Amino acid sequence: MKQSQLFTKTQKFAPKDEKSKNAQLLIRAGYIHKEMAGAYSLLPLGIRAVENIKQIVREEMNTMGASELIMTGIQRKELWDSTGRWDDSVVDVWFKSELKNGSEVGFGWSHEEPIGDMMKSHITSFRDLPIHVYQFQTKLRNEMRAKSGIMRGREFVMKDMYSFSRNQDQHDRFYNNCIEAYKRVFDRLGVGDDTFVTFAAGGAFTEFSHEFQTVCEAGEDVIYINREKNIAINEEVLNDKTLESLGVAREDLEEVRTAETGNIFNFGTEKGESLGLYYTDDQGDKVPVWMGSYGIGITRLLGVLVEKFADEKGVVLPHGVAPFAVHLISIGQDRKAQEIYGALTKTGVDVLFDDRDIRPGEKFADSDLIGIPTRVVVSEKSLATGGVEVKKRTQEEVRVMPLDEFYEEINNHQG
Ligand code: ATP
Ligand code: MG
Repeated sequence: MKQSQLFTKTQKFAPKDEKSKNAQLLIRAGYIHKEMAGAYSLLPLGIRAVENIKQIVREEMNTMGASELIMTGIQRKELWDSTGRWDDSVVDVWFKSELKNGSEVGFGWSHEEPIGDMMKSHITSFRDLPIHVYQFQTKLRNEMRAKSGIMRGREFVMKDMYSFSRNQDQHDRFYNNCIEAYKRVFDRLGVGDDTFVTFAAGGAFTEFSHEFQTVCEAGEDVIYINREKNIAINEEVLNDKTLESLGVAREDLEEVRTAETGNIFNFGTEKGESLGLYYTDDQGDKVPVWMGSYGIGITRLLGVLVEKFADEKGVVLPHGVAPFAVHLISIGQDRKAQEIYGALTKTGVDVLFDDRDIRPGEKFADSDLIGIPTRVVVSEKSLATGGVEVKKRTQEEVRVMPLDEFYEEINNHQG
């Protein structure tokens, strides 16, 4: 894409009322626009980064054998009444409205009830199970505080997956596979070593649920970890009983601030029973379906990556998440740059080509602010010394490389 055609421009300043680092940087770099506290529009750069994160998650969910769908955003009150979760004193983040005929509806903050109910039309016999489905959905939550930028939205993108199983054994197999798939997701996002599978409150049939907590100063959670034993405990369940059951002493745990980037949850048969989701087993008996739910905060993750990797010059995003792979900058060499742009795009490299008629210093500053992993400059000087100047966003070193060598390196890295 040519930068002269890219909406939008970078900005020197973020809005005064924006206090969070991730939102400040993403606004200044032109990834997002702030509508109001907790509500950010995704601009072209932002969509690209979010789609890249989604694609990594999608590939891992598909590898697990889950199918993608999209549920509606508006939801029926009756459904949530049936499980006791319509009440604002039970779920405190509801946005609610009503239809013209007066019936009440809610805006999806989660989808367990609608998806469980939908499955009544699809599950009758044990042969129909297991079923694994997921979606990328814009959730609406009337969060009390929204001061963490895109890490806590009132409107945000979540990946939510749901499993429907015959029994505990079938359920557990998928649940454990999901832990491994999530680990691969976090590895691919460059935060594998900093993301801990954490014992947390909840789980209808189990003592704990599992949260995926990523070490991040701007996070809102506190967990206690032991790296050698690979144990992580949310402060909400840190007590003598938990410590004893996990075989670890309080002195051996380190306190870290984290952001909850994922959460997996076992409903056992509780949700199936309250929704009336049953199947007929091989003995002809009617039994409730086992259900699990598995979330990843897609837009929160973008915020976490920015918080963790950004430097004083701007956004830094890992290859595979950044909106483009290469930032091509022409300094008075538009013909040559155009030729390089053509050659790179032909081999499938995502290139942002700064073809704007502005000062080189501005181009470099924008490039650092936007944070594309590889910057390539073509100028009279670079051509005189043999080719292009290549700089990685995270390194100071600038290498002059012949074009062939650069093409080879980029294409190998892509593959
Ligand atoms: P939190 O404790 O941070 O409010 P939660 O327990 O309400 O999270 P879930 O309902 O399990 O979260 O949602 C699944 C995932 O969606 C979370 O693990 C998190 O990554 C993400 N998420 C939850 N709330 C928000 C939000 N307001 N903005 C952005 N992402 C969110
Ligand atoms: Mg919450």
